[in-house]
Amino acid sequence: MTTPLVEMDGDEMTRILWQMIKDELLLPYIDLKTEYYDLGLAHRDETNDQVTVDSANATKKYGVAVKCATITPNGARMDEYHLKEMWKSPNGTIRAILDGTVFRAPILIKGIVPYVKNWTKPITIARHAYGDVYKNAEIKIPGRGKAELVFTAEDGTQTRELIHNFGGEGIIQGIHNTKDSISSFARACFGYAIDTKQDLWFSTKDTISKKYDHTFKDIFQEIYEEEYKEKFENLGIEYFYTLIDDAVARVIRSEGGFIWACKNYDGDVMSDMVATAYGDLSMMTSVLVSPSGVYEYEAAHGTVQRHYYKHLKGEETSTNSIATIFAWTGALRKRGELDRIPQLAAFADKLERACIKTVEDGKMTKSLSLISTCENPVILNSLDFIKAIRETLDRL
Ligand code: NAP
Ligand code: MG
Repeated sequence: MTTPLVEMDGDEMTRILWQMIKDELLLPYIDLKTEYYDLGLAHRDETNDQVTVDSANATKKYGVAVKCATITPNGARMDEYHLKEMWKSPNGTIRAILDGTVFRAPILIKGIVPYVKNWTKPITIARHAYGDVYKNAEIKIPGRGKAELVFTAEDGTQTRELIHNFGGEGIIQGIHNTKDSISSFARACFGYAIDTKQDLWFSTKDTISKKYDHTFKDIFQEIYEEEYKEKFENLGIEYFYTLIDDAVARVIRSEGGFIWACKNYDGDVMSDMVATAYGDLSMMTSVLVSPSGVYEYEAAHGTVQRHYYKHLKGEETSTNSIATIFAWTGALRKRGELDRIPQLAAFADKLERACIKTVEDGKMTKSLSLISTCENPVILNSLDFIKAIRETLDRL
């Protein structure tokens, strides 16, 4: 390696797996270079969360990061870790600094059959991560009265739109988005489609929301034509817009193998649907891509708290490390591409094949065995599963 990866360590069971993966699957095989940031909750608290900001800035500097799952503090965590403050979600902080879009794709393995039988290739969901209902203003209407949308420009001029004349109790909600954020989202999606040579689908409800959703559609179309159309045509990939309800029907009938860009709420709902239909959250990869071409790889699942507490009690755990290993391989492959080190990218490919082959050969963790069609799976504990992957890797 020439350029270091930005390494963001994390919490609980995934922190344990993190070290095992480095010891068993990375350090014996590659000259691993990382710039290490400890995003474990205790260290975030010590540094007043500065370490999260520093790690995001380092990612901007070097271009590629790999992140372990981290705790997003809540009331219970305040007591458990004696926190000074209820620090914000590290993923939210990093996403805000990198201005990125999150792409989630399942890892497909023979013997783990998607509920939708015709899905033979992965479907990648790209979720817009800013605004709409996640930054809303809401009022419970107590009784009769008039609700309006009012925009006051800097010069004081006002634009008004009637929402509803209430004859009794009701509810209203105001949501927004910005041209900048939608444009960044569009560029991240077009860039990622080119990067992975997959078609890009985008869906909204522009027939009903003629200004709000229609603006999303228009921005995507404009950026596509001005900046990406030629590259798409040269690669033989397609940009395709359709209504969200039509998209759902087409996605279910498809064989997969494309990126589905969704507005914030649609992405929240559809990513859980797609993850579940492919089999298991522990087999979902996730990468944050900024419009400037910076990448942060991680597993889609959390810190697997329940397994960690068993581990602390000295009980055996069978936690699936595949998505975390794929975060490393994604980052190493990208580093290899950027720095022109084909051996590094080849190692990443081989390690991924080793993970898949190990499970296809019948060795797996408990949760995988529950959804696998394998007749007599060998259920391994967390460390033995990683060691089994190492044996497969050595054979490959
Ligand atoms: P979680 O860590 O994803 O785990 C939920 C359950 O899913 C587990 O209890 C386990 O089920 C199963 N599971 C998830 N990953 C697994 C794996 N690799 N192998 C085997 N089973 C797996 O979600 P959570 O328990 O709701 O959240 C725990 C912490 O993670 C929270 O503090 C949350 O803030 C944080 N979190 C972080 C991220 C991130 O950093 N990206 C994302 C989500 C959540 P069983 O217990 O039934 O075996
Ligand atoms: Mg959700």
